[in-house]
Amino acid sequence: MSSAHAASGVSPLQTETTWTPQSWHDKVALQQPNYPDLDKLQDAVDEVRSLPPLVTSWEILSLQSQIAEAQEGKRFLLQGGDCAEIFADCTNDVISNRLKVLLQMSLVLVHGLRVPVVRVGRFAGQYAKPRSADLEVRDGKALPSYRGDIINSPEFTEEARTPDPRRMIRAHARSAMTLNFVRALIDGGFADLHHPEYWDLAWMKDSPLLGEYQRMVDGVRDSVQFMETLSGHALRNMDTVDFYTSHEALLLPYEEAVTREVPRQTGWFNMGTHFPWIGMRTAADDGAHLEYMRGIRNPIAVKVGPSVTPDALRRVIARLNPDNLPGRLTLIHRMGVNEVEAKLPPLLRSVQADGSRVLWVCDPMHGNTETAANGLKTRRFDNIRGEIERSFDVHAACGTRLGGVHLELTGENVTECTGGARALTDLDLERDYRTTVDPRLNDEQALELAMCIVRKQNK
Ligand code: PEP
Ligand code: MN
Repeated sequence: MSSAHAASGVSPLQTETTWTPQSWHDKVALQQPNYPDLDKLQDAVDEVRSLPPLVTSWEILSLQSQIAEAQEGKRFLLQGGDCAEIFADCTNDVISNRLKVLLQMSLVLVHGLRVPVVRVGRFAGQYAKPRSADLEVRDGKALPSYRGDIINSPEFTEEARTPDPRRMIRAHARSAMTLNFVRALIDGGFADLHHPEYWDLAWMKDSPLLGEYQRMVDGVRDSVQFMETLSGHALRNMDTVDFYTSHEALLLPYEEAVTREVPRQTGWFNMGTHFPWIGMRTAADDGAHLEYMRGIRNPIAVKVGPSVTPDALRRVIARLNPDNLPGRLTLIHRMGVNEVEAKLPPLLRSVQADGSRVLWVCDPMHGNTETAANGLKTRRFDNIRGEIERSFDVHAACGTRLGGVHLELTGENVTECTGGARALTDLDLERDYRTTVDPRLNDEQALELAMCIVRKQNK
């Protein structure tokens, strides 16, 4: 038990009012849409509540034990996917390409870091987005901001922008379809280490990274064959991997509706995803999002930005993990390449001094967003890589461990972030810029980043 927790003599839970899946209603809930018809909202919530769960409690608990191992340095967490999933991207190609790039990255990480990887998709439910303003004004006309496909639609019309609670049901269905397809691919042997060629993406044949990637794949294939020759039989579990889902638990009526009790388990689980996180804008320790998250049994994460003080973080930790359970809490820092060296050390030191068990993960995307000359939101590959590299150094200097990365990426060959092996420039952005919210690494940049992580760690 940490000194911060022990100091008060009682677990914070004992001094709180009782938690229920609805207790967040009594707190301030930021970043929620203004639904025009509350009866329709209730109908939609009731309908989602009646639908079967998307994940199971034993999967959730096995992820928690993998995160606990990552906290001890025995695993590395790879979490990645779209900034915002959109309904139109719930397709064969988008889902399988994203899975391919995540599998390729995890192969590079396993091979280079020599530890198993915890694989978590930012998908199957990543449909709600926090926005900096409630309204968007164009040519003197103000409409509600686009808040993600689970809430409204991006076209700038009154109809499209009015929050529609029925979208929760569509989001739930698309999350189920996404997860179903991912599970079917993996169960069918898509992740089989004997066949990494299943994960080849179209761009690879002329990529500057191909040689390095191919050498790793061959190395892994040789090792598997060697072990099989030695043991005289096929290695078990080489044809499958664990894959988990995550999303920002932002839209609280939806999260409440997927929160369930489970036979033969105590407490409540969010059964809409394995690993929900709280975004930077909704992480106030007295807010509704923390109130909701503190009561569920899933492993959870919180984004930590440059304005968070050690005291504020201590309060967040005390509320979310009062019993200091292993695997329960992940802290995702997203400081920006220029701030990470100044802002991260005080937080690392205070969490460590308190003895709080957390997994530290770096999100090198959200502190490095900028606007290109042509007005498009972008991120530079060198800044993304730089924040990860500096984070590794800062952790090493503080005696803590960076145990994973949280990335916005896609398996498509988009042009949203600049730089990388093909040195994309601001001018290239216009060629294939598709994201509705934040710029993502494309398939090649994502793989390159995994290689950079390995190089950095093996220096
Ligand atoms: C995000 O992950 O898309 C996001 C909005 O991040 P943050 O909460 O860190 O700003
Ligand atoms: Mn984002």
